[in-house]
Amino acid sequence: MTASPRLASRVKLKDAHLVTRMADIAEGLPDVIKLGRGDPDLDTPAHIVAAGQEALGKGATHYTHPLGIPALRQAIADNIRAHGGADYAPDQIVVTPGGQQAMFVIALGLLNPGDEILVPCPGYNPYHQAAELAEATTVHIRTSMATNFCLTAEMVEAAITPKSKVLVLINPNNPTGTVTPPEEIRRIAEVARKHDLIVISDEIYARLTYGNHQVQPVAALPGMAERTITLSGLSKAYAMTGWRVGYFAGPPDLIPALAEINHAFAISTAAVSQHAALAALTGPQDCVEEMRQTYDARRRQLLAGLDALGIPYAEPQGAFYVYANVASTGIGATAFCERLLREGRVLMYPGGIYGDYTDDFVRMSLTTHRIPEAMARMKTVVDAIRREAA
Ligand code: PLP
Repeated sequence: MTASPRLASRVKLKDAHLVTRMADIAEGLPDVIKLGRGDPDLDTPAHIVAAGQEALGKGATHYTHPLGIPALRQAIADNIRAHGGADYAPDQIVVTPGGQQAMFVIALGLLNPGDEILVPCPGYNPYHQAAELAEATTVHIRTSMATNFCLTAEMVEAAITPKSKVLVLINPNNPTGTVTPPEEIRRIAEVARKHDLIVISDEIYARLTYGNHQVQPVAALPGMAERTITLSGLSKAYAMTGWRVGYFAGPPDLIPALAEINHAFAISTAAVSQHAALAALTGPQDCVEEMRQTYDARRRQLLAGLDALGIPYAEPQGAFYVYANVASTGIGATAFCERLLREGRVLMYPGGIYGDYTDDFVRMSLTTHRIPEAMARMKTVVDAIRREAA
């Protein structure tokens, strides 16, 4: 065979192989505590599961409207508005099989080869991959722990060139948990307007914030609805990762073309999942608050454990991750993760997977109740590494 696998060679999955590698190692070990993937251990609330079951019984086994069932798109619009977001009509919303697919649909719809897309770094890695598939150039805007990995308007402006077309905001950020303060979002929006950028605002973790931190929806700001695509989904706030329901919402001049691409990819999102999502958004919301409180309690446990070990971290203000700096172990974050897995049977990922430009950080998910045990195991491994170095 002479043909080369075009897509595989085009997308440079920097460090992404580490996820598979760590999974392979974990597979061969007993009783691994997983602080790896961003997949809640908490179950989808029972009333949402029941709505899915009922929908199946009533024949929700077909394709739906390509943009998503109208009642769900109305519920999404209402939900966005209720949380201070923009005023979207249901036909400005496209339901997708997860927010993940939305990233690729949007990138392929907006970016021409050679266009520049500005992406915070570290930041959720599929944005880089989506940009590469569109043959666009990813411009990494590097944030650092000195500013709690916060993106600023100055950083964005400094990265702009005549080729800049799209700016990605991930708020709260994965992997760092940083919530960009509302006043900074306003300043970044001003830069986007000044330089005529389209903003993809990933607000999938917006319901999961801690302390006084709150997300300012970008599209609700003056002059932003016409240049912002809001991306979100139900995976995180409602513990619905396996149902695969996400969405994007945007201006009327962009949505039809993007909806076309989504239709070409998926035809429509699974009907049963859309009915469950409708129940999630229109039913009681205390389940979201209960889950948020659970993650918050785990976050405190994990931070106390890191404090005791003298391992610094970025303040996690949202999402369900802790981004910790393990440079003091002296072996690099990638080697540290592998050692922790083999010797401590605790799985976490090095920051390189999220485009980190150092090998200093690890991302720890709060998606297990076994945090105290994980921290005890981590202490044993960290102590051993430090003894060796002494
Ligand atoms: N956006 C961010 C920042 C994420 O971390 C994730 C998943 O981890 C997604 C979007 C996609 O989630 P899903 O495809 O489950 O909606």
